[in-house]
Amino acid sequence: MIYNDLIKNLGKSKAQIYANANQKALDKIAEIVSEKKIKCEFERIPLYIYTESENKVEKISQEVKAAKELGLPVSQVDNVPLPFNTASALMYENQAQFHPRKYLLALAENFDGNGCHIFENTSAITVKDGNTKEVITDKGSIWADNVVVTTHTPVYDPDNLKKHLHPARSYVMGLYINGEFPEGMFIDFDPTHTYRTTPTDKGKLVIVAGEHSSIDVTNREEYYSRLENYSKQHLDVKSIEYQWSSHDSISDDSLPMIGMTSSDGIYVATGFGFWGMNNGTTAAMIISDMIDKKNHLDNIFDPLRF
Ligand SMILES: Cc1cc2nc3c(=O)[nH]c(=O)nc-3n(C[C@H](O)[C@H](O)[C@H](O)COP(=O)(O)OP(=O)(O)OC[C@H]3O[C@@H](n4cnc5c(N)ncnc54)[C@H](O)[C@@H]3O)c2cc1C
Repeated sequence: MIYNDLIKNLGKSKAQIYANANQKALDKIAEIVSEKKIKCEFERIPLYIYTESENKVEKISQEVKAAKELGLPVSQVDNVPLPFNTASALMYENQAQFHPRKYLLALAENFDGNGCHIFENTSAITVKDGNTKEVITDKGSIWADNVVVTTHTPVYDPDNLKKHLHPARSYVMGLYINGEFPEGMFIDFDPTHTYRTTPTDKGKLVIVAGEHSSIDVTNREEYYSRLENYSKQHLDVKSIEYQWSSHDSISDDSLPMIGMTSSDGIYVATGFGFWGMNNGTTAAMIISDMIDKKNHLDNIFDPLRF
């Protein structure tokens, strides 16, 4: 639920660039999975953004109109295959669901060691600018010509981007239900709750997320308990197997920050607004192009735009 606001606040051409970037990132992930034959349960299924409330149907209609205007594969539907009543939904066809960790482990295996290394259990403390940059970590230093800071809130932040980033926490539960969960991904947009699934030996695990809060709440149990109640009100829950929470950050204008900081050769990718699998892929494409000196002068995600 972003395109209507983007068109209103930033204009159609910027909204169009963002829509295209999202489609391109989705295609890129599909291409990588197929080329590298990654077993990450990648499947093409629809995404429904729905509301249970008649009062919010108009918002869905406006978003459908905006997304259509941008050429996205979207339509408004009254029948959502969820096991409870909904008022209306926006359906994106041909979206993708996959297991992010299996995908990332396969990407990591493709690092060849020839100048490419992954240092696990190592905290970056800051970056020292210079012709060759120095990433100072708790285990020692790493030198490089180009550095990309992707630590969420940037650990090196010469432009005080923090000022334009709002961190948030999502709460997540993995549970089994009695009966079959329908095919598709589902998002109740206000207040936000989402449903995804992943196959397991015991059947489909349903991943329910929501109850966003600021990141520094002391009593997380309260939020898990709300999410549990929400899940039980909407699904016939058999067992809750997992719970965890995750961080994300949202920028002032809801677009990600992707590009070079004011320090030459030091890049940043953050502010993904709960959409970092897609936006992270966009960031990888843009920043690798920039390092290769390909032109990105019209980069609407430029972190210095504020
Ligand atoms: C249930 C659920 C469903 C989602 N669905 C979607 C979806 O459909 N589409 C979509 O696009 N997105 C989705 N997301 C959101 C997406 O997963 C996040 O937006 C994304 O993971 C954020 O990426 P990131 O790189 O900014 O942060 P992270 O993935 O959190 O990565 C930041 C990394 O930096 C590391 N780090 C932090 N500080 C340091 C330091 N000092 N030194 C070294 N390393 C450090 C952390 O360990 C971490 O690995 C979903 C998230 C959840 C929880």
